[in-house]
Amino acid sequence: MSTRPSPISATVDFDAEGVQHGFLKLPISVDESAWGAVMIPITVVANGEGPTALLTGGNHGDEYEGITALLKLASSLKAEDVRGRVIIVPMMNVPAAEAGKRTSPLDGGNLNRSFPGDPNGGVTSQIADYFSRVLVPMCDVALDLHSGGRTLDIVPFAAAHRLDDLAQEDASLAGAIAFGAPYAMMMFELDATRLYDTAVESQGKIFVTTELGGGGTSTPQSLAVTERGVHRFLVHYGLLAGKPSESDEAAPAEPMTYLDMPDASCYVQSEHAGLLELTVALGDTVAHGDVIARVYDMTRTGAEPVVYHAERDGVLIARRFPAKVGMGDTIAVIAEVVESLARASSHGGETDAPLSPRAE
Ligand SMILES: [Zn+2]
Repeated sequence: MSTRPSPISATVDFDAEGVQHGFLKLPISVDESAWGAVMIPITVVANGEGPTALLTGGNHGDEYEGITALLKLASSLKAEDVRGRVIIVPMMNVPAAEAGKRTSPLDGGNLNRSFPGDPNGGVTSQIADYFSRVLVPMCDVALDLHSGGRTLDIVPFAAAHRLDDLAQEDASLAGAIAFGAPYAMMMFELDATRLYDTAVESQGKIFVTTELGGGGTSTPQSLAVTERGVHRFLVHYGLLAGKPSESDEAAPAEPMTYLDMPDASCYVQSEHAGLLELTVALGDTVAHGDVIARVYDMTRTGAEPVVYHAERDGVLIARRFPAKVGMGDTIAVIAEVVESLARASSHGGETDAPLSPRAE
């Protein structure tokens, strides 16, 4: 891979104190703009010594809970409230967000399948490369806000992954629990190779991801969980000085449920095209063998639907959002309810010591 510097330039000074609003500028040359740039909004809030948090949304452009929460935070966060540095990018894949789509209309790129990226690749790959080589190395902790987007609806959870470095895994899991969503998850990815998650974790950083609703919209409930979670994440890692806000004092509405996704059998994918009827709702408990969905042939009457059964005991944590379903679409995800997310050999998961302050 080339090692030339990223073509992206920042209009903010990452070493300056105070609040800065600016852009990451990615040169493009298109019919409408010969010497143009993709302009990715960024806010940096810095105040003295302390850790650096990197907060991101819009990795997928149709996941509005994170985008909305971070646009609000970027406009409201004051330097005197911060200890260290908070870098906020509400829309990592801004062309996708502007188009209201998961992927970029410029090159079809799915940013979260484009890491570690390439400075000589397409727009999406160049964005990934900038994060991999410039922004992620600056941070100590990273929070990436996802939700289901237009095709999925997902129960609100924050998640960590199993990592080779147990201390890193424990510290990440503690942040996922501190986020305070109704669910905390040890997440199994279908293919982690090209995820932002993996790019961050491979640099030894503490990383928390989330899923916070979906359907290509947001609700008062999903936004409340998201905004409170971001605040609690920053408090947990020592980024916010002073008093907790009222949102931090509001505990999660119900006791947090711990979820594990042991393997790929958690994902139920359609082997038929047609009209989807989910027979269980998000958050419902299901048992192995239960009917969870039927898919109807829309080309004729009188045909029996195809019936899908749960392949494990657990909770329905994600569902396909549109009723029309195609071959290979994920129609349901079933996760296992567990007592603890700590490994059997580990005491971890509940530590909440803030990071030690770190000079730049
Ligand atoms: Zn996403």
